[in-house]
Amino acid sequence: MELKLYNTDGRKLEPFVPLKEGEAGVYCCGPTVYNYAHIGNLRTYVFEDILRRVLERAGYKVNHVMNITDVGHLTDDGDDGEDKMIKSSREKGMTVWDIADFFTGAFFNDTDRLNIKRPSTSCRATKHIGNMIALVKKLEEKGFAYEAGGNVYFDVSKFDAYGKMALLDKQELMAGSRIEVDPNKRNPQDFVLWFTESKFEKQAMTWKSPWGEGYPGWHLECSAMSMKYLGEQFDIHCGGIDHIPVHHTNEIAQSEAATGKKWVNYWIHGEFLVLNKGKMSKSGGGFITLETLVEKGYDPMDYRYFCLGGHYRSQLQFSYESLDSAAASRANLIKKVKSVKEGCDGQPAEVVESEALKQVIADFNSDCAEDLNMPRALSRLYAALKADASDAQKLAALYDMDGVLGLKLDEVEWEQKLEELEEELMTLIREREAARAQKNFAESDRIRDLLLEKGIAVKDGPDGTVWSRV
Ligand code: AMP
Ligand code: ZN
Repeated sequence: MELKLYNTDGRKLEPFVPLKEGEAGVYCCGPTVYNYAHIGNLRTYVFEDILRRVLERAGYKVNHVMNITDVGHLTDDGDDGEDKMIKSSREKGMTVWDIADFFTGAFFNDTDRLNIKRPSTSCRATKHIGNMIALVKKLEEKGFAYEAGGNVYFDVSKFDAYGKMALLDKQELMAGSRIEVDPNKRNPQDFVLWFTESKFEKQAMTWKSPWGEGYPGWHLECSAMSMKYLGEQFDIHCGGIDHIPVHHTNEIAQSEAATGKKWVNYWIHGEFLVLNKGKMSKSGGGFITLETLVEKGYDPMDYRYFCLGGHYRSQLQFSYESLDSAAASRANLIKKVKSVKEGCDGQPAEVVESEALKQVIADFNSDCAEDLNMPRALSRLYAALKADASDAQKLAALYDMDGVLGLKLDEVEWEQKLEELEEELMTLIREREAARAQKNFAESDRIRDLLLEKGIAVKDGPDGTVWSRV
Protein backbone atom coordinates (compact mmCIF):
# COMPACT_ATOMS: atom_id res chain seq x y z
CA MET A 1 0.00 0.00 0.00
CA GLU A 2 1.66 3.26 -1.08
CA LEU A 3 0.29 5.78 1.33
CA LYS A 4 -0.18 9.40 0.25
CA LEU A 5 -0.88 12.12 2.78
CA TYR A 6 -1.67 15.80 2.38
CA ASN A 7 1.15 17.73 3.96
CA THR A 8 0.18 21.18 5.25
CA ASP A 9 3.87 22.00 4.93
CA GLY A 10 3.92 22.50 1.17
CA ARG A 11 0.14 22.11 0.74
CA LYS A 12 0.30 18.99 -1.39
CA LEU A 13 -0.24 15.24 -1.42
CA GLU A 14 3.00 13.42 -0.80
CA PRO A 15 3.96 9.75 -0.62
CA PHE A 16 4.69 8.83 2.98
CA VAL A 17 8.36 8.00 3.41
CA PRO A 18 9.28 7.36 7.04
CA LEU A 19 12.58 8.28 8.61
CA LYS A 20 13.10 4.69 9.77
CA GLU A 21 11.97 1.88 7.55
CA GLY A 22 8.86 0.14 8.82
CA GLU A 23 8.25 2.64 11.61
CA ALA A 24 6.17 5.78 11.96
CA GLY A 25 6.57 8.34 14.73
CA VAL A 26 3.34 10.29 15.21
CA TYR A 27 2.72 13.14 17.62
CA CYS A 28 -0.81 14.43 18.22
CA CYS A 29 -1.63 17.52 20.27
CA GLY A 30 -3.75 16.23 23.11
CA PRO A 31 -6.54 17.70 25.19
CA THR A 32 -6.41 20.59 27.61
CA VAL A 33 -7.98 18.92 30.61
CA TYR A 34 -10.00 21.66 32.24
CA ASN A 35 -13.31 20.49 30.83
CA TYR A 36 -14.86 17.64 28.84
CA ALA A 37 -13.80 17.24 25.23
CA HIS A 38 -16.54 18.43 22.89
CA ILE A 39 -17.55 16.43 19.84
CA GLY A 40 -15.47 18.78 17.64
CA ASN A 41 -12.32 17.83 19.55
CA LEU A 42 -13.39 14.20 19.31
CA ARG A 43 -13.72 14.45 15.53
CA THR A 44 -10.02 15.34 15.44
CA TYR A 45 -9.13 12.34 17.64
CA VAL A 46 -11.20 10.03 15.41
CA PHE A 47 -9.27 11.31 12.36
CA GLU A 48 -5.96 10.73 14.14
CA ASP A 49 -7.09 7.22 15.10
CA ILE A 50 -7.89 6.50 11.45
CA LEU A 51 -4.45 7.78 10.44
CA ARG A 52 -2.84 5.46 12.96
CA ARG A 53 -4.91 2.45 11.87
CA VAL A 54 -4.11 3.11 8.19
CA LEU A 55 -0.40 3.36 8.98
CA GLU A 56 -0.64 0.06 10.84
CA ARG A 57 -2.51 -1.53 7.94
CA ALA A 58 0.26 -0.31 5.63
CA GLY A 59 2.67 -2.31 7.82
CA TYR A 60 4.22 0.41 9.97
CA LYS A 61 4.93 0.02 13.62
CA VAL A 62 3.39 3.22 14.94
CA ASN A 63 4.78 5.08 17.91
CA HIS A 64 1.84 7.32 18.75
CA VAL A 65 2.57 10.02 21.31
CA MET A 66 0.02 12.43 22.73
CA ASN A 67 0.37 15.11 25.38
CA ILE A 68 -2.09 15.93 28.10
CA THR A 69 -2.12 19.66 28.76
CA ASP A 70 -2.67 19.74 32.50
CA VAL A 71 -0.82 23.02 33.10
CA GLY A 72 -2.93 26.13 33.37
CA HIS A 73 -3.03 28.05 30.11
CA LEU A 74 -4.81 31.01 28.69
CA THR A 75 -8.08 31.01 26.81
CA ASP A 76 -6.41 32.65 23.82
CA ASP A 77 -3.58 31.03 21.83
CA GLY A 78 -1.71 34.32 21.57
CA ASP A 79 -0.76 34.58 25.27
CA ASP A 80 -3.96 36.42 26.01
CA GLY A 81 -7.28 35.75 27.73
CA GLU A 82 -7.98 34.09 31.06
CA ASP A 83 -6.30 31.05 32.66
CA LYS A 84 -8.48 28.06 31.73
CA MET A 85 -7.57 25.81 34.66
CA ILE A 86 -8.06 28.51 37.30
CA LYS A 87 -11.38 29.48 35.74
CA SER A 88 -12.56 25.87 35.74
CA SER A 89 -11.29 25.22 39.28
CA ARG A 90 -13.17 28.28 40.56
CA GLU A 91 -16.36 27.30 38.74
CA LYS A 92 -16.28 23.67 39.88
CA GLY A 93 -14.88 24.21 43.37
CA MET A 94 -12.05 21.70 42.85
CA THR A 95 -8.26 22.11 42.97
CA VAL A 96 -6.54 22.50 39.61
CA TRP A 97 -4.82 19.12 40.15
CA ASP A 98 -8.14 17.38 40.76
CA ILE A 99 -9.63 19.11 37.74
CA ALA A 100 -6.78 17.80 35.57
CA ASP A 101 -7.12 14.22 36.92
CA PHE A 102 -10.87 14.18 36.56
CA PHE A 103 -10.94 15.46 32.98
CA THR A 104 -8.04 13.27 31.87
CA GLY A 105 -10.12 10.27 32.99
CA ALA A 106 -13.19 11.67 31.26
CA PHE A 107 -11.21 12.18 28.05
CA PHE A 108 -10.02 8.57 27.88
CA ASN A 109 -13.48 7.36 28.75
CA ASP A 110 -14.78 9.22 25.69
CA THR A 111 -12.03 8.01 23.38
CA ASP A 112 -12.50 4.40 24.58
CA ARG A 113 -16.22 4.63 23.86
CA LEU A 114 -15.40 5.84 20.35
CA ASN A 115 -13.03 2.89 19.88
CA ILE A 116 -10.08 5.25 19.49
CA LYS A 117 -6.88 3.37 20.22
CA ARG A 118 -4.98 4.70 23.19
CA PRO A 119 -1.66 6.38 22.32
CA SER A 120 1.50 4.29 22.81
CA THR A 121 2.60 7.09 25.16
CA SER A 122 0.44 9.77 26.67
CA CYS A 123 2.48 12.31 28.57
CA ARG A 124 1.39 14.93 31.06
CA ALA A 125 2.88 18.39 30.77
CA THR A 126 3.24 18.70 34.57
CA LYS A 127 5.55 15.65 34.60
CA HIS A 128 7.90 17.15 31.99
CA ILE A 129 8.67 20.61 33.32
CA GLY A 130 12.41 19.70 33.52
CA ASN A 131 12.47 18.92 29.78
CA MET A 132 10.78 22.23 29.05
CA ILE A 133 13.23 24.22 31.17
CA ALA A 134 16.13 22.49 29.36
CA LEU A 135 14.66 23.53 26.02
CA VAL A 136 14.30 27.17 27.09
CA LYS A 137 17.92 27.15 28.32
CA LYS A 138 19.07 25.86 24.96
CA LEU A 139 17.11 28.58 23.16
CA GLU A 140 18.62 31.18 25.46
CA GLU A 141 22.15 29.88 24.84
CA LYS A 142 21.60 30.03 21.10
CA GLY A 143 20.31 33.59 21.26
CA PHE A 144 16.67 32.88 20.37
CA ALA A 145 15.21 33.89 23.73
CA TYR A 146 15.23 37.04 25.85
CA GLU A 147 14.00 37.98 29.30
CA ALA A 148 11.65 40.90 29.75
CA GLY A 149 9.39 41.90 32.61
CA GLY A 150 10.17 38.63 34.44
CA ASN A 151 9.18 36.38 31.52
CA VAL A 152 11.22 34.61 28.87
CA TYR A 153 10.18 35.19 25.25
CA PHE A 154 11.04 33.58 21.94
CA ASP A 155 12.40 36.17 19.52
CA VAL A 156 10.79 35.39 16.16
CA SER A 157 13.00 37.89 14.31
CA LYS A 158 15.94 35.51 14.92
CA PHE A 159 14.24 32.56 13.25
CA ASP A 160 14.18 33.06 9.49
CA ALA A 161 11.66 30.37 8.64
CA TYR A 162 9.06 31.68 11.11
CA GLY A 163 5.55 31.03 9.78
CA LYS A 164 6.71 29.06 6.69
CA MET A 165 4.48 26.00 7.26
CA ALA A 166 1.48 28.24 7.97
CA LEU A 167 2.27 30.48 4.95
CA LEU A 168 2.37 33.53 7.19
CA ASP A 169 3.94 36.63 5.75
CA LYS A 170 6.78 37.45 8.10
CA GLN A 171 7.18 41.04 6.92
CA GLU A 172 3.53 41.70 7.58
CA LEU A 173 3.75 40.04 10.99
CA MET A 174 6.77 42.12 11.94
CA ALA A 175 4.89 45.27 11.03
CA GLY A 176 2.45 44.36 13.81
CA SER A 177 -0.76 43.45 12.07
CA ARG A 178 -2.27 42.37 15.38
CA ILE A 179 -3.10 44.59 18.28
CA GLU A 180 -0.29 44.11 20.75
CA VAL A 181 -1.15 43.57 24.39
CA ASP A 182 2.16 42.66 26.01
CA PRO A 183 4.60 45.61 26.16
CA ASN A 184 7.48 43.23 27.04
CA LYS A 185 7.53 41.75 23.56
CA ARG A 186 10.09 43.02 21.05
CA ASN A 187 8.01 41.80 18.10
CA PRO A 188 4.26 41.31 18.10
CA GLN A 189 4.60 37.58 17.24
CA ASP A 190 7.12 36.80 20.00
CA PHE A 191 5.67 34.29 22.40
CA VAL A 192 6.23 33.34 25.99
CA LEU A 193 8.47 30.38 26.78
CA TRP A 194 8.38 30.83 30.56
CA PHE A 195 6.16 33.02 32.71
CA THR A 196 7.03 34.27 36.15
CA GLU A 197 4.85 37.33 35.87
CA SER A 198 1.48 37.49 34.29
CA LYS A 199 -1.40 39.84 34.57
CA PHE A 200 -3.59 37.04 35.87
CA GLU A 201 -4.20 35.92 39.41
CA LYS A 202 -1.59 33.78 41.12
CA GLN A 203 -1.10 30.38 39.50
CA ALA A 204 -1.75 27.26 41.55
CA MET A 205 0.82 25.34 39.53
CA THR A 206 4.31 26.86 39.54
CA TRP A 207 7.83 25.45 39.38
CA LYS A 208 11.31 26.73 40.21
CA SER A 209 13.40 27.71 37.19
CA PRO A 210 16.57 29.68 36.37
CA TRP A 211 14.27 32.66 35.64
CA GLY A 212 12.32 32.44 38.88
CA GLU A 213 9.29 30.48 40.04
CA GLY A 214 6.75 30.23 37.28
CA TYR A 215 5.21 28.07 34.58
CA PRO A 216 5.76 27.27 30.90
CA GLY A 217 4.18 28.92 27.88
CA TRP A 218 1.74 26.51 26.30
CA HIS A 219 3.54 25.78 23.01
CA LEU A 220 6.62 24.57 24.85
CA GLU A 221 5.26 21.26 26.11
CA CYS A 222 4.62 19.78 22.67
CA SER A 223 8.16 20.51 21.48
CA ALA A 224 9.77 19.20 24.66
CA MET A 225 7.69 16.03 24.98
CA SER A 226 7.60 15.06 21.30
CA MET A 227 11.39 15.32 21.12
CA LYS A 228 11.75 13.32 24.32
CA TYR A 229 9.63 10.42 23.07
CA LEU A 230 10.14 10.56 19.29
CA GLY A 231 13.56 12.16 18.87
CA GLU A 232 14.67 15.52 17.48
CA GLN A 233 13.25 14.60 14.08
CA PHE A 234 10.15 12.54 13.51
CA ASP A 235 7.60 11.68 10.84
CA ILE A 236 4.12 13.08 11.51
CA HIS A 237 2.59 15.81 13.65
CA CYS A 238 -1.20 16.19 13.75
CA GLY A 239 -3.85 18.44 15.16
CA GLY A 240 -6.87 20.49 14.20
CA ILE A 241 -6.48 23.30 11.64
CA ASP A 242 -6.86 25.97 14.31
CA HIS A 243 -3.35 25.09 15.46
CA ILE A 244 -1.65 25.98 12.16
CA PRO A 245 -1.08 29.74 12.54
CA VAL A 246 -0.05 30.01 16.18
CA HIS A 247 0.51 26.81 18.15
CA HIS A 248 2.20 24.70 15.47
CA THR A 249 4.01 27.71 14.02
CA ASN A 250 5.51 28.40 17.44
CA GLU A 251 6.24 24.72 18.09
CA ILE A 252 8.25 24.60 14.85
CA ALA A 253 10.13 27.82 15.63
CA GLN A 254 11.27 26.76 19.09
CA SER A 255 12.07 23.14 18.12
CA GLU A 256 14.05 23.93 14.96
CA ALA A 257 15.81 26.89 16.57
CA ALA A 258 16.94 24.62 19.41
CA THR A 259 18.21 21.73 17.27
CA GLY A 260 19.16 23.52 14.04
CA LYS A 261 17.40 20.68 12.17
CA LYS A 262 14.13 20.12 10.37
CA TRP A 263 11.79 18.84 13.05
CA VAL A 264 8.73 17.19 11.47
CA ASN A 265 8.35 15.83 7.93
CA TYR A 266 4.55 15.67 7.59
CA TRP A 267 2.03 18.07 9.10
CA ILE A 268 -1.47 16.60 8.89
CA HIS A 269 -4.39 18.78 9.98
CA GLY A 270 -8.03 17.91 10.47
CA GLU A 271 -10.78 20.34 9.52
CA PHE A 272 -13.36 21.49 12.01
CA LEU A 273 -16.70 20.13 13.04
CA VAL A 274 -19.01 23.12 12.81
CA LEU A 275 -22.36 23.99 14.28
CA ASN A 276 -24.69 26.16 12.22
CA LYS A 277 -21.68 27.39 10.28
CA GLY A 278 -19.99 28.49 13.51
CA LYS A 279 -17.05 27.11 15.45
CA MET A 280 -17.56 24.81 18.41
CA SER A 281 -15.47 26.12 21.25
CA LYS A 282 -14.45 24.56 24.53
CA SER A 283 -14.10 27.79 26.42
CA GLY A 284 -17.23 29.33 24.93
CA GLY A 285 -19.62 27.36 27.16
CA GLY A 286 -22.52 25.72 25.27
CA PHE A 287 -20.90 22.77 23.61
CA ILE A 288 -21.93 19.19 22.89
CA THR A 289 -20.10 16.30 24.52
CA LEU A 290 -20.21 12.59 23.74
CA GLU A 291 -22.20 12.14 26.94
CA THR A 292 -24.79 14.62 25.62
CA LEU A 293 -25.26 12.31 22.63
CA VAL A 294 -25.42 9.18 24.80
CA GLU A 295 -28.03 10.80 27.04
CA LYS A 296 -30.09 11.50 23.94
CA GLY A 297 -29.99 7.79 23.13
CA TYR A 298 -27.23 7.65 20.51
CA ASP A 299 -24.54 5.00 20.58
CA PRO A 300 -20.97 6.42 20.51
CA MET A 301 -20.50 4.32 17.37
CA ASP A 302 -23.20 6.45 15.68
CA TYR A 303 -20.92 9.44 16.15
CA ARG A 304 -17.88 7.53 14.85
CA TYR A 305 -19.92 6.48 11.81
CA PHE A 306 -21.01 10.10 11.33
CA CYS A 307 -17.36 11.27 11.39
CA LEU A 308 -16.35 8.63 8.83
CA GLY A 309 -18.94 10.10 6.46
CA GLY A 310 -16.83 13.25 5.95
CA HIS A 311 -13.26 13.56 4.66
CA TYR A 312 -10.97 14.77 7.41
CA ARG A 313 -9.91 17.77 5.30
CA SER A 314 -13.47 19.01 4.80
CA GLN A 315 -15.55 20.83 7.35
CA LEU A 316 -18.24 18.62 8.79
CA GLN A 317 -21.52 20.25 9.66
CA PHE A 318 -23.09 18.79 12.79
CA SER A 319 -26.84 18.61 13.24
CA TYR A 320 -29.04 16.09 15.03
CA GLU A 321 -30.75 15.38 11.68
CA SER A 322 -27.47 14.33 10.10
CA LEU A 323 -26.54 12.31 13.19
CA ASP A 324 -29.94 10.59 12.95
CA SER A 325 -29.26 9.69 9.38
CA ALA A 326 -25.81 8.28 10.31
CA ALA A 327 -27.44 6.27 13.13
CA ALA A 328 -30.06 4.90 10.72
CA SER A 329 -27.39 3.89 8.19
CA ARG A 330 -25.41 2.19 10.94
CA ALA A 331 -28.51 0.32 12.16
CA ASN A 332 -29.06 -0.88 8.61
CA LEU A 333 -25.44 -1.96 8.35
CA ILE A 334 -25.69 -3.88 11.63
CA LYS A 335 -28.80 -5.65 10.41
CA LYS A 336 -26.95 -6.80 7.32
CA VAL A 337 -23.87 -7.84 9.29
CA LYS A 338 -26.12 -9.83 11.66
CA SER A 339 -27.62 -11.73 8.80
CA VAL A 340 -24.15 -12.51 7.41
CA LYS A 341 -23.16 -13.78 10.85
CA GLU A 342 -26.22 -15.94 11.07
CA GLY A 343 -25.33 -17.41 7.70
CA CYS A 344 -21.94 -18.64 8.89
CA ASP A 345 -22.46 -19.21 12.62
CA GLY A 346 -20.39 -16.10 13.27
CA GLN A 347 -17.29 -17.80 11.86
CA PRO A 348 -15.37 -15.72 9.30
CA ALA A 349 -13.25 -17.51 6.71
CA GLU A 350 -9.56 -17.54 7.54
CA VAL A 351 -8.57 -16.09 4.16
CA VAL A 352 -10.56 -14.03 1.69
CA GLU A 353 -10.47 -16.08 -1.50
CA SER A 354 -13.46 -14.68 -3.37
CA GLU A 355 -12.27 -12.64 -6.37
CA ALA A 356 -15.13 -10.17 -5.93
CA LEU A 357 -14.19 -9.53 -2.31
CA LYS A 358 -10.49 -9.31 -3.06
CA GLN A 359 -11.36 -6.47 -5.45
CA VAL A 360 -13.46 -4.76 -2.77
CA ILE A 361 -10.54 -4.95 -0.35
CA ALA A 362 -8.11 -3.65 -2.97
CA ASP A 363 -10.42 -0.67 -3.55
CA PHE A 364 -10.70 -0.16 0.19
CA ASN A 365 -6.90 -0.11 0.49
CA SER A 366 -6.66 2.48 -2.29
CA ASP A 367 -9.22 4.66 -0.52
CA CYS A 368 -7.21 4.50 2.70
CA ALA A 369 -3.93 5.13 0.89
CA GLU A 370 -5.34 8.13 -0.98
CA ASP A 371 -5.16 10.56 1.95
CA LEU A 372 -7.54 8.58 4.18
CA ASN A 373 -10.67 8.76 2.07
CA MET A 374 -13.04 7.34 4.68
CA PRO A 375 -16.36 8.21 2.99
CA ARG A 376 -15.34 5.99 0.07
CA ALA A 377 -13.74 3.35 2.32
CA LEU A 378 -16.98 3.12 4.28
CA SER A 379 -18.96 2.44 1.11
CA ARG A 380 -16.82 -0.67 0.51
CA LEU A 381 -18.55 -2.38 3.44
CA TYR A 382 -21.78 -2.24 1.44
CA ALA A 383 -19.98 -3.48 -1.68
CA ALA A 384 -18.72 -6.47 0.34
CA LEU A 385 -22.22 -7.19 1.64
CA LYS A 386 -23.55 -7.23 -1.93
CA ALA A 387 -20.70 -9.31 -3.38
CA ASP A 388 -21.33 -12.73 -4.85
CA ALA A 389 -19.59 -14.70 -2.10
CA SER A 390 -20.32 -16.92 0.90
CA ASP A 391 -21.23 -15.40 4.25
CA ALA A 392 -18.00 -16.66 5.82
CA GLN A 393 -16.03 -14.92 3.07
CA LYS A 394 -18.05 -11.73 3.48
CA LEU A 395 -17.58 -11.71 7.23
CA ALA A 396 -13.81 -12.08 6.84
CA ALA A 397 -13.75 -9.11 4.44
CA LEU A 398 -15.94 -7.00 6.72
CA TYR A 399 -13.75 -7.67 9.76
CA ASP A 400 -10.65 -6.91 7.75
CA MET A 401 -11.91 -3.48 6.70
CA ASP A 402 -13.25 -2.78 10.16
CA GLY A 403 -9.65 -2.94 11.38
CA VAL A 404 -9.42 0.61 10.00
CA LEU A 405 -13.00 1.84 10.32
CA GLY A 406 -13.24 0.71 13.95
CA LEU A 407 -17.03 0.24 13.99
CA LYS A 408 -16.80 -2.85 16.24
CA LEU A 409 -18.54 -5.09 13.69
CA ASP A 410 -17.14 -8.13 15.51
CA GLU A 411 -19.20 -7.15 18.54
CA VAL A 412 -22.50 -7.10 16.65
CA GLU A 413 -24.69 -9.68 18.35
CA TRP A 414 -26.52 -12.03 16.08
CA GLU A 415 -29.07 -13.38 18.49
CA GLN A 416 -32.00 -15.05 16.82
CA LYS A 417 -35.63 -15.28 17.74
CA LEU A 418 -36.71 -18.21 19.84
CA GLU A 419 -39.00 -19.67 17.15
CA GLU A 420 -36.11 -20.16 14.80
CA LEU A 421 -34.44 -22.73 17.05
CA GLU A 422 -34.43 -26.44 16.60
CA GLU A 423 -37.14 -28.35 18.43
CA GLU A 424 -34.97 -29.94 21.11
CA LEU A 425 -33.35 -26.69 22.11
CA MET A 426 -36.66 -24.85 22.03
CA THR A 427 -38.13 -27.39 24.41
CA LEU A 428 -35.24 -26.91 26.80
CA ILE A 429 -35.60 -23.15 26.66
CA ARG A 430 -39.35 -23.39 27.33
CA GLU A 431 -38.71 -25.69 30.28
CA ARG A 432 -36.22 -23.19 31.60
CA GLU A 433 -38.70 -20.34 31.24
CA ALA A 434 -41.33 -22.39 33.12
CA ALA A 435 -38.81 -23.07 35.92
CA ARG A 436 -38.03 -19.34 36.11
CA ALA A 437 -41.73 -18.52 36.27
CA GLN A 438 -42.07 -20.87 39.25
CA LYS A 439 -38.96 -19.25 40.75
CA ASN A 440 -37.23 -22.63 40.59
CA PHE A 441 -33.85 -21.07 39.94
CA ALA A 442 -31.87 -24.25 40.63
CA GLU A 443 -33.73 -25.94 37.76
CA SER A 444 -33.47 -22.91 35.45
CA ASP A 445 -29.72 -22.72 36.11
CA ARG A 446 -29.36 -26.45 35.43
CA ILE A 447 -31.04 -26.03 32.05
CA ARG A 448 -28.99 -22.93 31.29
CA ASP A 449 -25.80 -24.97 31.87
CA LEU A 450 -27.15 -27.79 29.72
CA LEU A 451 -27.86 -25.33 26.91
CA LEU A 452 -24.40 -23.91 27.28
CA GLU A 453 -22.94 -27.39 26.83
CA LYS A 454 -24.89 -27.58 23.59
CA GLY A 455 -23.33 -24.30 22.46
CA ILE A 456 -26.26 -22.01 23.24
CA ALA A 457 -26.10 -19.04 25.59
CA VAL A 458 -29.39 -17.62 26.82
CA LYS A 459 -29.99 -14.10 28.00
CA ASP A 460 -33.13 -12.85 29.72
CA GLY A 461 -34.02 -9.35 28.64
CA PRO A 462 -37.03 -7.05 28.74
CA ASP A 463 -38.32 -8.55 25.49
CA GLY A 464 -38.07 -12.15 26.69
CA THR A 465 -35.33 -14.71 26.31
CA VAL A 466 -32.86 -14.41 23.48
CA TRP A 467 -30.13 -16.85 22.58
CA SER A 468 -26.83 -16.84 20.75
CA ARG A 469 -24.31 -19.49 19.77
CA VAL A 470 -21.11 -19.46 21.79
P1 AMP B 1 -7.96 21.54 22.76
O1 AMP B 1 -8.35 20.63 23.86
O2 AMP B 1 -8.77 22.78 22.69
O3 AMP B 1 -6.48 21.82 22.72
O4 AMP B 1 -8.30 20.80 21.37
C1 AMP B 1 -8.00 19.46 21.15
C2 AMP B 1 -7.98 19.16 19.66
O5 AMP B 1 -9.26 19.41 19.08
C3 AMP B 1 -6.99 20.01 18.87
O6 AMP B 1 -6.33 19.19 17.90
C4 AMP B 1 -7.87 21.04 18.19
O7 AMP B 1 -7.29 21.50 17.00
C5 AMP B 1 -9.12 20.23 17.92
N1 AMP B 1 -10.37 21.02 17.78
C6 AMP B 1 -10.80 22.06 18.51
N2 AMP B 1 -12.04 22.46 18.10
C7 AMP B 1 -12.41 21.63 17.09
C8 AMP B 1 -13.57 21.51 16.24
N3 AMP B 1 -14.62 22.31 16.37
N4 AMP B 1 -13.59 20.54 15.30
C9 AMP B 1 -12.53 19.70 15.17
N5 AMP B 1 -11.42 19.74 15.94
C10 AMP B 1 -11.35 20.70 16.88
ZN1 ZN C 1 0.72 20.87 20.46
